[in-house]
Amino acid sequence: MKELQEMWKQVLQKIEMMVSAVSFDLWISPLEVVDYNKFEKLILSANSAYAKKQLLKNHTEHLKSAIEEVFGEDTPFEILDPEEKDEFLKKNTIDSNQAVLGKDAEEQKNAFNPKYTFDNFVVGKSNQFVYAAARSVAENPGKRFNPLFIYGGVGLGKTHVLHAIGNYITGEHPELKIKYVTCEKFTNDYIDSLHGSNKEQGINKFREKYRNLDVLMIDDIQFITNKNETQEEFFHTFNDLYQNNKQIIIASDRPPKDIATLSDRLKSRFASGLIQDVQSPDFETRVAILRKKTQLEKYFIDDDVIQFIAEKIDTNIREMEGLLSKVYFFATLLGKKSASIEEAKEAFKEDLDEKREDLSAENIIDATCKYFAVSKSDLTGKKRSKEFVEPRMIAIYLIIEILELPLVAIGKLFGGRDHTTIIHARDKITEQVKEGGKIKTFVSAIKEILNREN
Ligand code: ADP
Ligand code: MG
Repeated sequence: MKELQEMWKQVLQKIEMMVSAVSFDLWISPLEVVDYNKFEKLILSANSAYAKKQLLKNHTEHLKSAIEEVFGEDTPFEILDPEEKDEFLKKNTIDSNQAVLGKDAEEQKNAFNPKYTFDNFVVGKSNQFVYAAARSVAENPGKRFNPLFIYGGVGLGKTHVLHAIGNYITGEHPELKIKYVTCEKFTNDYIDSLHGSNKEQGINKFREKYRNLDVLMIDDIQFITNKNETQEEFFHTFNDLYQNNKQIIIASDRPPKDIATLSDRLKSRFASGLIQDVQSPDFETRVAILRKKTQLEKYFIDDDVIQFIAEKIDTNIREMEGLLSKVYFFATLLGKKSASIEEAKEAFKEDLDEKREDLSAENIIDATCKYFAVSKSDLTGKKRSKEFVEPRMIAIYLIIEILELPLVAIGKLFGGRDHTTIIHARDKITEQVKEGGKIKTFVSAIKEILNREN
């Protein structure tokens, strides 16, 4: 490992001479070497998904040439984001678990994401019951709520809760054997056990691994295949653990009754415990989650930016966190401690633009009227004085930009004007927005009204 570190240091030194100091500090120097495995592939990790994206976009060539100089020609490398890194480490830990029996307990400890704890989980109306159930199970595994079945949409904290249970139990009861797997991993493990040279030995090992446990957690059970054999094995694993008062915890994106591939007898087994859903967080909870995350990651983020993110994204928490790290890095790029609300909006332009499909031409016309305090009939009518012409052209421009409606349809909305008039309005405003004067300000202000009110 010493040598590897030394080599990586050389790579860094080379890149430092190729890129700007800001880019180096921001993107290159936080890279970590995760692995240099037997296929001689260098696995690196970036400190956020956004950082990874930036690295791939702007620094692939720099990395490639510096790595090749130090590690040899055609050395492949890969950059992982934090989530992928967790996956990678987990996978490798589990693989070596199989190889080195006896090291189980110690390595299982590392299988849980240390950030996914109960302490870091913000409790609100949407998730209080899941939190309470998870806590109770963590404190008394196998005694209450068995099995515990948690379901809810993407990015609402199910995996976080499973890891929190895992972290809690490994901390409080290190003697307990606890295992977390995704449904996919369980299935693959089972299939692998059948394909070894000695099938019986394979199956026995599999059973030893999955039945000799105090707590078994299976994530994303909705991916269970209707291949009979795997479900059969899962059913027996379940029964075996259950009869011995061992805790079983399952997470899914939908309730058991809606998992088409799940056999009826498993559905009824799950129904014998507690089935608890986690809902989308309300605005206050979303703000609290973002504040918590800001604290944990040591980001500096203005509160109005936090509120803005919480307003814009109302379900997927992972998506909110993505914007948070994005705005943090954006500010760093600008050489600032934290970004202003305007800068945040600039940083999110790509992310938020696509979210406006819900708008109608009516909304845009209303917002424009409101901003300029003109009546709708004046805005869309024939009057040619400047106080109406300019707002009219801006409304047309916005409808084209945001909704991409056909020109003829837009003409109809404005008293049957023909498409050349519409094109003229679009081009004129486009040009003025580029110039960046007061028209640009008007356009942004109206967009803001649209964002706020729709
Ligand atoms: P799921 O498994 O439901 O798709 P995750 O557990 O992966 O969702 O959660 C997505 C992200 O949101 C994680 O980073 C997680 O820490 C965070 N998160 C979700 N709910 C909460 C919460 N109540 N408090 C703090 N962070 C949360
Ligand atoms: Mg999950």
